[in-house]
Amino acid sequence: MRVIRFFEILVAFVLMLIFAAALVGGVFRWPFFILAAVALGLYLVWEYVCLRCPWCGSVMEPSRLLRGLRRACHCPSCGHEITVVWRVNKRVPEHGPDGAEDAEAETPTPAPETKTNL
Ligand SMILES: [Zn+2]
Repeated sequence: MRVIRFFEILVAFVLMLIFAAALVGGVFRWPFFILAAVALGLYLVWEYVCLRCPWCGSVMEPSRLLRGLRRACHCPSCGHEITVVWRVNKRVPEHGPDGAEDAEAETPTPAPETKTNL
């Protein structure tokens, strides 16, 4: 399925939030800078791994994907439409259920009767 889950965008935003909070905390207590660095690293890794265009593989901005929830968003690199879903519950097969119907609709052709006139 060529979609991006909302959950994946949410994780990116939470990591960004932790990074910002830890940066502010680092002003008062220096060990928070370590937490900020870890959160930033995790965010970059998460963005690199999960928040990619399903079509061309270029890394997407989470803010752009968040807009894709309400209306169609397009990849800046390849221009393909990216679908953002809240959650993936039902499995949508890649090819659709057309294959089974076609096999059922196919009626077996009756064998032509060969009449032998003797
Ligand atoms: Zn793309």
